[in-house]
Amino acid sequence: TIKYGLSVALENVSLEVNEGDIVTIIGANGAGKSTLLMSLLGLVPISSGEIYFKGKLLNNKKTNDIVKDGIVLVPENRQLFPFLNVLDNLTLGACLRKNKDEVKNNLENVFRLFPILKEKTKQKAGTLSGGQQQMLAVGRGLMANPTLLCLDEPSLGLAPLVIEEMGAVLKDINKHGVSILLVEQNVHLALGTATRGYALKTGNVIFGGTIEELKASDIAKEAYLGK
Ligand code: ATP
Repeated sequence: TIKYGLSVALENVSLEVNEGDIVTIIGANGAGKSTLLMSLLGLVPISSGEIYFKGKLLNNKKTNDIVKDGIVLVPENRQLFPFLNVLDNLTLGACLRKNKDEVKNNLENVFRLFPILKEKTKQKAGTLSGGQQQMLAVGRGLMANPTLLCLDEPSLGLAPLVIEEMGAVLKDINKHGVSILLVEQNVHLALGTATRGYALKTGNVIFGGTIEELKASDIAKEAYLGK
């Protein structure tokens, strides 16, 4: 449970992401999706309940320690450093890491996933297209070497073709051993990418199950119709 003052943003929310999963959380504006992701990273205080990662309690841990443990957030609206170039943005993603060789490998992997970023290493992040900025935000997240990559609406403001590419990249990242927690309002991306899913409504989990179950549910049908 998470409260902002007296207002309850999440109420007794219970969910899990197993190793190797791509789990999606769908829900309308204000459902509590971003709050949930921020709570995993220690960015909002928990009013009650527990969060465990790989068997260890995360409550009250500092964000930089949580990132070192392997949970990384690609935040809503990307939150890049617009006046820094692509390479500097990526390098900042690895700022908590010491092993330079591993960081270099990570960078090569990011360039494999997003070749366009390699072409634009010296370009200022703020001058990239929306799609390229989102790729950079995901790339910066990967530079922290996550075991669980959390993404907050990576489809926001992107063209349908770019959204489709993003889905393929997320599956590729997952195949290489990274579990994914994907918050999305775009049901096409969410249901086309995830293996399991939850639906949030005004701070409550109203559905949890396999992606096939979610696809067959009235919740997905309503979401497709934009209700
Ligand atoms: P969106 O898709 O619009 O980002 P969301 O599902 O991510 O929505 P949250 O941003 O987590 O939802 O918000 C959940 C609830 O908490 C909303 O009612 C929102 O107005 C409220 N809220 C979020 N952040 C704050 C804050 N810093 N202070 C007060 N209330 C907040």
